Amino acid sequence: MLTPYEEALESLLERVDRLPTEKVILWDAIGRVLAEDIFADRDSPAFDNSAMDGYTVVSQDLEEIPAKLKVVGEVSAGSEFSGCLERGQAIRIFTGAPIPVGANAVVPVEYTKLEGEYVLIERSFKEGANIRRRGEEIKAGELILKRGTRIRGYEVGLLAFANKVFVEVYQKPRVAVLSTGDEIKEPGEPIEKPSQIRSTNNHLLYARARELGCEVHQLGIIRDEPESIEEVLQRVEDYDVFITTGGVSAGEKDFVHKLVKDMGFEVVFHKLRIKPAKPVLFAKRGRTLFFGLPGNPVSCAMAFDMLVKPALLKMQGVEEHRPKFLKAELLRDFSRRDAERREFVRAKYMEKDGRLFCDYSPKTQSHMLTSYVDANCYMVVYEGVHELKAGQQVDIVPFDW
Ligand code: AMP
Ligand code: MG
Repeated sequence: MLTPYEEALESLLERVDRLPTEKVILWDAIGRVLAEDIFADRDSPAFDNSAMDGYTVVSQDLEEIPAKLKVVGEVSAGSEFSGCLERGQAIRIFTGAPIPVGANAVVPVEYTKLEGEYVLIERSFKEGANIRRRGEEIKAGELILKRGTRIRGYEVGLLAFANKVFVEVYQKPRVAVLSTGDEIKEPGEPIEKPSQIRSTNNHLLYARARELGCEVHQLGIIRDEPESIEEVLQRVEDYDVFITTGGVSAGEKDFVHKLVKDMGFEVVFHKLRIKPAKPVLFAKRGRTLFFGLPGNPVSCAMAFDMLVKPALLKMQGVEEHRPKFLKAELLRDFSRRDAERREFVRAKYMEKDGRLFCDYSPKTQSHMLTSYVDANCYMVVYEGVHELKAGQQVDIVPFDW
């Protein structure tokens, strides 16, 4: 009896706890997930200031144009004008400088002409023109960033703005990746027999987990020998998440699932009603999450995206850690003979005139990793569905949810 996808995802997420938090210095916050709400410490702008280089004036003096005003001083960013601006006067001002008392508009320099001690203003400006008002963007104490937000470059800027030198973030999950198989060779190693292949999986997983903000440990390849696998499985609790590939199917040399059971891991699921990646296994040992992903590269990638990723996001405190489903209009008919399992087909979605469309890769089999070239989503073909027709709405899961 195969476990349905949702049931597997829920039983998995139930067993995932958020990691503890830690403080990092601002410039190391990139890619991490905020574990605290961030509030503005000051109004923004913090004071009324000039949006332009030019002259600051009393707007009522510009009712008759051209106006001739006496220049009584200068104020630039980081300095203050000590006096008060009177009618008939102007002050030279630069972008970011505080608006002097009495002034209520800024005339950009291109509408002015300096004549000795006077400035000639050639266009009228209303009260408030070219002034950035105190607090118009945000008020002191207002929430800027919510806990659970992934920190991009923009957020780093906002953290600096909020005067956060140290930031509370969730710890990075410590993830180990490992591939099993007598036939697989690391990139760079010679291929000695026609039956040998390149190991893609441990590298794909290493990179995917890094992309999701994890501290990843590449453990390489081990052979299909129970002793070597058992030795490795003894150490899974050194990590928050341990991912293996290969050896979870029904083959004679598939030892991973047998050993996991024999060694007393809590096996939460093994074999799902999904295609590809049917033999995927999830178990727990102490606090460590253990994923036994199948060896076929597409199965491995897909199982990572639809099962491991939600767990990694939840551990890091991301609120929206479940895969997000969108609707798109299918561009070509799709059919399949066996409709027992839910299939996740590599596909590409695009937007045109406000509508989403979806086309799928013709390479639907689980050993065809090039089906990911150009793909940006999975198209979901539900259990019992043999055919999808061009023009009909289908569910898709974008890769970057
Ligand atoms: P398994 O799940 O061990 O039965 O492997 C299923 C298929 O995936 C076989 O064709 C393997 O050769 C292939 N495979 C297993 N591990 C890897 C790997 N690390 N990289 C690429 N292909 C693999
Ligand atoms: Mg194998």
